[in-house]
Amino acid sequence: MNAGVSRALVIGGGFSGMTAAIVLQRQGVAVDLVEIDKDWRTYGAGISLNGATFRLFGQLGIIDAYLKAGATCDGVHMRGPQDQLVFEMPTPTLVPGLPGNGGIMRPALARILADKVRAEGVSVRLGVSFTTIDADSGRVAFTDGSADEYDLIVGADGFASSVRKALYPDAPKPRYVGQAVWRAVVPRPAELPTITMWMGPKLKAGVNHVSDTQSYLFLTEDKPVNEHVDPAQFIDRLKALLARFPSPVLTRLAAGLGADSQINYRPLENMMLPRPWTRGKVVLIGDAVHATTPHMAAGALMGMEDGVVLAEELAARPTLTEAFAAFEERRFERCRMVVENSGRLAEIEITGGDHAEHARIMGQTLGALAQPI
Ligand SMILES: Cc1cc2nc3c(=O)[nH]c(=O)nc-3n(C[C@H](O)[C@H](O)[C@H](O)COP(=O)(O)OP(=O)(O)OC[C@H]3O[C@@H](n4cnc5c(N)ncnc54)[C@H](O)[C@@H]3O)c2cc1C
Repeated sequence: MNAGVSRALVIGGGFSGMTAAIVLQRQGVAVDLVEIDKDWRTYGAGISLNGATFRLFGQLGIIDAYLKAGATCDGVHMRGPQDQLVFEMPTPTLVPGLPGNGGIMRPALARILADKVRAEGVSVRLGVSFTTIDADSGRVAFTDGSADEYDLIVGADGFASSVRKALYPDAPKPRYVGQAVWRAVVPRPAELPTITMWMGPKLKAGVNHVSDTQSYLFLTEDKPVNEHVDPAQFIDRLKALLARFPSPVLTRLAAGLGADSQINYRPLENMMLPRPWTRGKVVLIGDAVHATTPHMAAGALMGMEDGVVLAEELAARPTLTEAFAAFEERRFERCRMVVENSGRLAEIEITGGDHAEHARIMGQTLGALAQPI
């Protein structure tokens, strides 16, 4: 049962780690989860989700909670500078009765998952990390002075993963892709039925709904050098970039930006760890091994799917070695596809490339994500 795993440690309480903890605990593994942030915070931007994410929410049993806090919509609208609809991309529906697209505020999704983690009976320790890991024996020493031994250790500590640094000192460094993203929370524009994007010569702006009353606005900016931007300049800089889009909706949203718009600026980087993603009793999942730029809005989906597939393979295989091999076989290509296709979309945007190729890659990737995992 569970490839001989009866006790597991999950390091990192983000979307990936929480999902792994929920499914493992549910199938009979006693899970400890340690999260370095004592307040278990998530920063306050919106996150876009698609039909494949809703399929996964169905497996986790959180669709009703999601529908109370988030938003759903159908398709992606690409608009011209004056808001005219130029192209409508369908988004596959994978859960009967639910559209194929949506969005939610990150803290709201994190709360839904954290509630589920606790409801399943996972033992959660906040403000705690590891100091050493012995991958072969599964022995872990923690920052609170305690130590323990596990049959399985899941490294889900994100993009700057300390588990990756400890076990893969030669791992490739994250690569800055030459683009940054601005995000803000805005009142939901009634005239936009679904996620909407405006393709400028090099800039891309977009709006996605995250609740009945709120949307999040995003704008990607080409920037050859990864430079610091002073938060005191955020409002003026974002307004100036939005001014390059004459769309009446964007003009109105720009005018309303202020101190309470939760503006966030983030240079975009990606990283794909070559196989193997496992060492002894340790497996890495989520951004710790495949950090993508947000162009397909599927990074969180990939990390959450990792957790589900890991649990499925543990349930199906007699040994950890076989479960790890099967897990990696099912995950590597799918995650690589998301990281590489998202990187290509960034390149097209940065160079002012072919919008038809951009739309084709988006459509193909959405189609691939809809396939069974
Ligand atoms: C600008 C931007 C926009 C994005 N938009 C989308 C989107 O719209 N849709 C989508 O699906 N994806 C999106 N993504 C990707 C998505 O945010 C990530 O893929 C996802 O959050 C990864 O989850 P994770 O749990 O693997 O890592 P993280 O979210 O980074 O979580 C890691 C957790 O581990 C904790 N931790 C860190 N170090 C330690 C340690 N040493 N010990 C214990 N705990 C530790 C952290 O505090 C954190 O809670 C976006 C990414 C970016 C950069």
